[in-house]
Amino acid sequence: MHSSIVLVAVNGIWGDAGLDGQQSGDLKRRIERRLTRQGTVKSQGFEIQKKPMTADNVSNKTVAGGDEMDYPGNLFVVSAPSGTGKSSLVKALLELDSRLQVSISHTTRPPRGQEQHGREYLFIEEAEFRRMISHGDFFEWAEVHGNLYGTSRHAIEERIKGGEDVVLEIDWQGALQIKKIFPNAVLIFILPPSYEELLQRLHRRGEDTSDVIEIRMSNAKVEVEQAQFFDYVVVNSLFETALFDLKAIVHAQRLKYAAQRRNKSAVFRALNLV
Ligand code: 5GP
Repeated sequence: MHSSIVLVAVNGIWGDAGLDGQQSGDLKRRIERRLTRQGTVKSQGFEIQKKPMTADNVSNKTVAGGDEMDYPGNLFVVSAPSGTGKSSLVKALLELDSRLQVSISHTTRPPRGQEQHGREYLFIEEAEFRRMISHGDFFEWAEVHGNLYGTSRHAIEERIKGGEDVVLEIDWQGALQIKKIFPNAVLIFILPPSYEELLQRLHRRGEDTSDVIEIRMSNAKVEVEQAQFFDYVVVNSLFETALFDLKAIVHAQRLKYAAQRRNKSAVFRALNLV
């Protein structure tokens, strides 16, 4: 099975997607090495296409300056290679923390198993997805394993403006795009303890053929390299420990000065800290 990912490049994403000069230079060089003159590369069953993001799909208002990004709600973005346990961890985190809301992505892939429209994903036709792209409805979108996935503005902006904490469970390319648009977004990468363990988990999961597992393992090597550009790394050796780590990240974010000033305004006023 052929697996592909289209990189939707936000103009300038390499330069300041929350990375320092050295990191962004390394990322840019690594990804650009993968791009052919035609703008695509196929490597280890992994295809990246360069697609400039236009003013149509990035709001200038949102990007400008970055200070408008100090919304009362937090935005957490969780990425991981397939089989690492990301979905189970996020699900458990949401069950423990009623203040966290998950953002439901749009996708063109058909529902799997018990998946329901509006619960796991908003399943839409490709024509509708492309219409949404042209209307600038997505903050980010990417092609992963031959299907299109996107995070709609609606899914995030109003909610974090309204003080909700939102979790996105998206691939690393989407995560780096989100960091560009929301510099305050908290990027969390979940690592497997080893490639051997990841391979065993993919086999135990029993969802994929050996060929697909091989592609997922090749892709995992590219994906794992991106962990260095995330704010936090959680190693999922033991589920409970990884869950604890995720909770700690969420909690620490809520203790930041700006958040505490908003949430404990009476204390701050009493202490003349306004
Ligand atoms: P699956 O089809 O297995 O549910 O998801 C495939 C991959 O697409 C996963 O890595 C998942 O996190 C990622 N994904 C899901 N929704 C989005 C999205 O809105 N944007 C991006 N960039 N990736 C997504």
